Amino acid sequence: MKDEWDVIVVGGGHAGIEAALAARRKGCSVVLISAKRNRIGEMSCNPAIGGIAKGTIVREIDALDGSMARTADATRLHFRMLNRSKGPAVWGPRVQSDAAEYASAQQSYIGNRGVEILEDEVTGLEGLTEKVKGVRCRGRGCVKGKAVVLATGTFLKGMLYRGDEKWKGGRIGDISADLLEKDIVKRMFHVERFKTGTPSRIVRKTVNTEELEVQTSEKTNFNFSYEKQMICEKEVVCYITYTNRKTMEIAKENLHLSPLMAGRIEGTGPRYCPSYEDKVVKFPERISHKIYVEPMGYRSRYFYLNGLSSSLPREAQEKMVRSLQGFGKAEIADYGYAVEYSYFHYTEIDDTLRLRRSENVFVAGQICGTSGYEEAAGLGLVAGANAGRVAKCLEPLSLSRMNSYIGVMIDDIVSKGADEPYRMFSSRAENRLHLRQDNADRRLYLTGDRFDIMSDEKKELLTGNMKEAERIKYILENETVDGVRLSKWCRRPEMSVGKIITVSDALVDSEEKILMSVLLDEKYSGYIERNLRKNESRRNLEKISLREINSYMEIDEICWEAREVLERERPETLARAERIPGIRPTDLQGLLIYLGRKRSTWNNSRAGEM
Ligand SMILES: Cc1cc2nc3c(=O)[nH]c(=O)nc-3n(C[C@H](O)[C@H](O)[C@H](O)COP(=O)(O)OP(=O)(O)OC[C@H]3O[C@@H](n4cnc5c(N)ncnc54)[C@H](O)[C@@H]3O)c2cc1C
Repeated sequence: MKDEWDVIVVGGGHAGIEAALAARRKGCSVVLISAKRNRIGEMSCNPAIGGIAKGTIVREIDALDGSMARTADATRLHFRMLNRSKGPAVWGPRVQSDAAEYASAQQSYIGNRGVEILEDEVTGLEGLTEKVKGVRCRGRGCVKGKAVVLATGTFLKGMLYRGDEKWKGGRIGDISADLLEKDIVKRMFHVERFKTGTPSRIVRKTVNTEELEVQTSEKTNFNFSYEKQMICEKEVVCYITYTNRKTMEIAKENLHLSPLMAGRIEGTGPRYCPSYEDKVVKFPERISHKIYVEPMGYRSRYFYLNGLSSSLPREAQEKMVRSLQGFGKAEIADYGYAVEYSYFHYTEIDDTLRLRRSENVFVAGQICGTSGYEEAAGLGLVAGANAGRVAKCLEPLSLSRMNSYIGVMIDDIVSKGADEPYRMFSSRAENRLHLRQDNADRRLYLTGDRFDIMSDEKKELLTGNMKEAERIKYILENETVDGVRLSKWCRRPEMSVGKIITVSDALVDSEEKILMSVLLDEKYSGYIERNLRKNESRRNLEKISLREINSYMEIDEICWEAREVLERERPETLARAERIPGIRPTDLQGLLIYLGRKRSTWNNSRAGEM
């Protein structure tokens, strides 16, 4: 073990892995400390990656050279393009992976890239909050580092619930990071509580799949990764079943035993991903809910019941499961449960994912108040890249919400937080016709290049994609059909890759996926341009930094309430200030006047010094 590391990453979940890899790509020495080495990369809940908007995040992670896309491709057993009935802008690629192989592939991946792994429990930060010296571990004591990324998922004072059972843990069979949470609270960080839950896992051979609807994998040439690697050739079928009146009655009879309904869980859960008992209460008129029956792996002995998350007592869960068509004799291998955990309030985090009160501590994943593997991985990549940049004394990276879903997510969580675990939806992005899964490489190329985030091989590949897209655009701009420029011609609704290559010889040999992506740019160009114009004024506000303001309390140009709010929230830019509830246009004007006055005072005093 080294005496001091450039970057220490705490947590081996989806966030921690991307953080460690991003810091390594920056040339940093990195140690990843995780409570259990063999659970690194584990999918705590469902064995799936991607989905609507989430799938685009995975593509963005790949464009910035993270590992999630490659590993999802390499371990995929089932594929569906969600939202296919809608426009390609909101298509959501989703794969089901072999959960065990996914984790082991991620473990090999980080090992092969020189990330040192230390199995230990981190019990606190070491040194002053403003600039920590490293972390304290239960076994090894102090581990020194120039920057730290906390990516501890659902583990901060994690508490698990099922009926009247209650026990400590970040997830089943794992520790609860109580001491680390205590240290964080002692350092006066504002933390709050969220909760989430998971369904039971069913013994596969006890389910009569002949009674279930079959959902086969789509045939596709889609890869999450832009790299042309081998796709896993194994495939599984999934199934669909439905809850019924009996399932509902069992849930209703046992509602008083639900830890959530009985008020034993205080944390807020995700409304978009409710437990079955939540559904019964909120949608009493709906008898039948769809349940996806998903194998946990190719050879796995278990099915995952997507849509039947529950923290009711074991007996109630057993009865509910057995009430489903095909599940009359089903045996439960692991019962569902809920987890309640602490996370950092959004006011503690800046847009580089650094804790505002510290120079060198970053946070990523579920402890930022998000939920989901893809969200965690996207945040991990940015936090790790920035921890690496701090260690190397470089300017931080921040992503714009106009250019990536990861940027939208960071902007949302650091400027207004969320009152439930934050999950990405396409509706959160005002520029969603531009933020598509097909063009993530081109959207993020300049950022990746400027901040030196990609390996040489990745850069070479994406540079090739950029050149091919430029070549195609040049042809579209300069060739005509019946006197109409191809770029205009291809905006017609019936236009497709197949048709366009019949009218231009120069396009025949184009890379098909890139041609399709450029055609979509053209098709949506009217909307995208209108949207960009609409956002122009906002972008201007984004350029006005508020970082130089030491205290808002003395700014006479803004009202007293705004001073208090801004002092508490400390937005980075005027655009952020605009979105804080309670900040009025007059306050923004006041801030502009104040900044103008302050800058002219500086200029005058500098002129005086010369
Ligand atoms: C029961 C349950 C149900 C869930 N349900 C859903 C769902 O329905 N939908 C959804 O999108 N997401 C769900 N999730 C959340 C999903 O698992 C997370 O969003 C995702 O895994 C977060 O990734 P992460 O990297 O932030 O943290 P995790 O994947 O939780 O990883 C945290 C890592 O930190 C390590 N760690 C924690 N504390 C310490 C410490 N003090 N010292 C050393 N190592 C430490 C752990 O060992 C682990 O490796 C659920 C999670 C759980 C546990």
